[in-house]
Amino acid sequence: MDNKKELRNWLDDFGLPHPLVIAGPCSAETEDQVLNIAHQLKDSDATVFRAGIWKPRTRPGMFEGVGAIGLKWLQKAKEETGMLTATEVANPTHVQLAIEHDVDILWIGARSTVSPFIVQEIADSLQGTDKVVLVKNPVNPDLPLWLGAVERLHKADIKKLGVIHRGFSTYEKTKYRNIPEWQLPIELQNRFPDLPLICDPSHITGKRDMVFDVCQTALDLNYDGLMVETHFDPDNAWSDAAQQVTPATLIQIMQDLRIRKEND
Ligand code: PEP
Ligand code: MN
Repeated sequence: MDNKKELRNWLDDFGLPHPLVIAGPCSAETEDQVLNIAHQLKDSDATVFRAGIWKPRTRPGMFEGVGAIGLKWLQKAKEETGMLTATEVANPTHVQLAIEHDVDILWIGARSTVSPFIVQEIADSLQGTDKVVLVKNPVNPDLPLWLGAVERLHKADIKKLGVIHRGFSTYEKTKYRNIPEWQLPIELQNRFPDLPLICDPSHITGKRDMVFDVCQTALDLNYDGLMVETHFDPDNAWSDAAQQVTPATLIQIMQDLRIRKEND
């Protein structure tokens, strides 16, 4: 699979810097919240604005996303800030609505990557588009399942493909929300050296204080990008409150990462 070349192409097509930085809230909550965060990120290193519209909650009874109305807010954020937009899709209807609203990057969430049926439906619905598709690792540390999802999209002729490492669920209590198991994404990269690899330190750590260190490890391992959940009032976020950082903190993190890298 000759994806590295294709990655370079799609990053270059958009004039995106390396590493690619994707930032924005776990969930779109209100139009004001989306626009406020997007404007605070406008002049940061983040070139892609993320927000979940349909939220796959593990247990019922929690906030499950604002739904399609949020796509209009993403579109407005793009118009007002010039950032690209990204959201999670979990079925062909999501794909169609996201395309209609000009979302640039679609990602498949950890709870969807586990299902070959869902991945295949999404892949089929994407055929003929030139969207960027990023595949999060499955919730469980199952490399073939992750590879299989990538292969299904590749077979559907999706050229602008990448993967997101968001850590793996474990029954044991650890300092992480989802243990990184760095050897899995590294193994995936060994198998498909051309596939861009993005780290999601927010879902790996589950705690904002640990986000910086995981970003640094990912950059030290030559990851192609970072996806960091960012909210202007993290403690009151409607989902994943403990792990989100403010836009100001993200800007600081990016500065400190650069300084450390330059001093290496
Ligand atoms: C998210 O990005 O907010 C999300 C739900 O992620 P994951 O699929 O990694 O749990
Ligand atoms: Mn989240």
